Amino acid sequence: MKNITVIGSGTMGNGIAHTFAQFGYQVNLIDVNEVALQKAIDTIGKNLDRQVTKGLISEADKTATLANITTYTNLKDAASHADLVVEAASENMAIKLDIFKQLDEICPAHTILASNTSSISITKIASVTKRPTQVIGMHFMNPVPVMKLVEVINGFKTSEEVTETILTLSKAVGKIPALANDYAGFIANRILMPMINEAIFCLQQGVGSVESIDTVMKLGMAHPMGPLQLADFIGLDVCLAIMNVLHEGLGDTKYAPSPLLVNMVTAGNLGVKSGEGFYVHTAGSKDLVVSSRFKNHR
Ligand code: NAD
Repeated sequence: MKNITVIGSGTMGNGIAHTFAQFGYQVNLIDVNEVALQKAIDTIGKNLDRQVTKGLISEADKTATLANITTYTNLKDAASHADLVVEAASENMAIKLDIFKQLDEICPAHTILASNTSSISITKIASVTKRPTQVIGMHFMNPVPVMKLVEVINGFKTSEEVTETILTLSKAVGKIPALANDYAGFIANRILMPMINEAIFCLQQGVGSVESIDTVMKLGMAHPMGPLQLADFIGLDVCLAIMNVLHEGLGDTKYAPSPLLVNMVTAGNLGVKSGEGFYVHTAGSKDLVVSSRFKNHR
């Protein structure tokens, strides 16, 4: 495995490209949006600078990593000589199915097709290709160059050989893989999202304030960040979309999203990305300021 195509150069795509390139792989980074591609290269440069400053890599490593990345806006040019494709385009079923249909036509027969999806069925994605044994989930965590975990998801037809190849590759780029089967939310979001949703129910029902809920989970369970703060970082729209996938996919009312979460998304209070969720987020400030909407909750 030498040549890896990464589709989508947003939050996850730039981190995935960075990681493979740092470990010597030739990376083709493709996005439909040229501005996103340029932003990704700038972000990778800044993140490499931070690694140099921390003494994790040398200046020569930084130069070599950047030289390993080529950018594209055309899928055919980017993927026609790939040994592996890792798709990290927007979390939208129609977009992903269209990309995988095209990849199946474009890529050589040996190419493994992986998706970084947080919640869309790998089996469903594989079903639009003629190579379902070679389709797999490779779910990196954000920020990719820092986080050790890769959740590797077997679709219904993924072959053992392909799974082994992806587990080995994950270790080769400094990650620790954990294997999951293809049920809604896989492992990470099946457990994380209901916890976040329950924290929002606690707030909605007045069990505790924003500060109390996050403090209990930080100090009591040694979580680095409380569930409401984490929800703000992930994006409340993303949390809601994943709860809906769990609710529909597993058919159990215990996964129904909290009405407060639904209201906040409808109102546009999405967390960091919109400037306000459970907390107010001001660019350049790391202070935790509870949203005025929840200030009087005790
Ligand atoms: P993002 O919105 O930051 O980036 C998505 C990029 O995909 C955009 O730059 C967009 O222009 C591009 N894109 C859209 N359609 C495309 C197409 N047809 N061809 C090529 N590029 C296309 O999204 P993100 O947060 O990086 O998420 C990407 C994937 O990773 C999603 O499936 C998401 O569920 C998953 N994921 C996200 C996180 C996270 O914390 N953000 C964590 C794990 C997994």
